[in-house]
Amino acid sequence: MLYTSTRGGAPAVSSARAIVDGLAPDGGLYVMAPDEIPQLDWRSFLALDYPTLAAKVLSALLPDFDEAEAKTLVTAAYTGKFSDQRIAPLRAAGDDLFLELFRGPTSAFKDVALCLLPHLMKRSAEKLGDKDDILILTATSGDTGKAALEGFRDVEGIRILVFYPRDGVSAVQKAQMVTQAGKNVNVCAVEGNFDDAQSGVKAIFSAMPKGLSSANSINIGRLVPQVVYYFSAYIDAVRLGKIRAGQKLNFSVPTGNFGDILAGYLALRMGLPVGKLICASNANNVLTDFIRTGVYDRRRPFHKTISPSMDILISSNLERLLYLMSGDSELVASLMAQLKDEGHYTVPAELLEKIRSVFCAYCCDDEGTKNAIHSVWTGSSYLCDTHTAVGWSAAQSFGKAEGPTVILSTASPYKFPAAVLSAIGESCDGDEFAMMDALEEKTGVPMPENLRGLKERPVLHRDCVAPANMLEYVKEKKAESSWAK
Ligand SMILES: *Cc1c(COP(=O)(O)O)cnc(C)c1O
Repeated sequence: MLYTSTRGGAPAVSSARAIVDGLAPDGGLYVMAPDEIPQLDWRSFLALDYPTLAAKVLSALLPDFDEAEAKTLVTAAYTGKFSDQRIAPLRAAGDDLFLELFRGPTSAFKDVALCLLPHLMKRSAEKLGDKDDILILTATSGDTGKAALEGFRDVEGIRILVFYPRDGVSAVQKAQMVTQAGKNVNVCAVEGNFDDAQSGVKAIFSAMPKGLSSANSINIGRLVPQVVYYFSAYIDAVRLGKIRAGQKLNFSVPTGNFGDILAGYLALRMGLPVGKLICASNANNVLTDFIRTGVYDRRRPFHKTISPSMDILISSNLERLLYLMSGDSELVASLMAQLKDEGHYTVPAELLEKIRSVFCAYCCDDEGTKNAIHSVWTGSSYLCDTHTAVGWSAAQSFGKAEGPTVILSTASPYKFPAAVLSAIGESCDGDEFAMMDALEEKTGVPMPENLRGLKERPVLHRDCVAPANMLEYVKEKKAESSWAK
């Protein structure tokens, strides 16, 4: 199985090459041909632990890695880094099922992929015989940046540079990034929003095609580890007696760049009995409108919300879905060109019908988000973060008629303490760090260890650039040998 570009203008490559390069040279995303998606027998997985299951899924999707090697990498990636040995535990709270994906080193779901990606990338480069250092460039809406920094810090032969929107991340997220230690890391603010940062990074990839890679979910090596927990959640739901083996299970996914939910779609195409994939958005509801109408229109106001990791108007991974569902790279290329030039596109009616047979979409604003946190806390004493709350709210709107739904819980509530504290009807006069303490005191839910003492850590990164100067900045940094070694 090879990886091809969604836009059809680049040669097919091995999984190792797709991981090392990140983005296809024609600007498209690497993906397998729709008729080559591997099929897995999930029934044979019912007794497996997470690393063994992960090795099966990984080696199926990344043929350069056999099961034994995948298991070694998975074990190296996760051992000792997650506060819960199960990696992605399924938690029943009241009537709800939460898939807790935030037990990793930075308390966001991106850890699940970003603890593993450096191992995959390093081994891929070795397999390909690439000797040059790789520079990882990443735009972050808040959580990817820290998870990538933590994953790639001090990895030999790889450097990492993270761009974050200056006013678009929470104080906790910012503190996590600007205090990042490591001899191969660099963090820089961008005077703009996430889309500016992401567009800037994509432009740099076009301008400097060699030696760069990405830790964003445009990298297939980011997506593949996320497919694993759909399988593990399904198996756990069977084990907990929430579904019969073979019964369909729905997933509600708080969505930004469409990476997490696309991993769910891959799991479905690989044979997992997935019912509906519920795309949950905040006030930036471009995907809600798209899934309901087939019209993707980014020409709308950008809202800064209390679920900032989903404040996105250009959802990169949707491109992969359009390709996997249509198999038509010409169509995808033309839709993407239209999005770039005109800011909108409309998919053909048959494609919309296919999308709607699997996906449904709901959104809620900040008030709805806070109401959700409040309802879950008072109803089942479960404290969820703002992103998870958007997912819960969507699952409520979806209802119970089509069977049980797993809500992907994507971050610790301690990453967004101001919003969570106010949602549960408490207040605190201090800064976000004081609010974290207050949240722990009021709820008794323990704060993750990695977030303790954040305020006292020294700030190591203060750079800030305009979007137009990002390329110049990367060139300068690349030339600085002091940073390289
Ligand atoms: C990144 C992120 C999301 C959105 O995930 P996508 O893969 O971009 O759709 C949701 N919640 C949290 C906490 C995140 O960090």
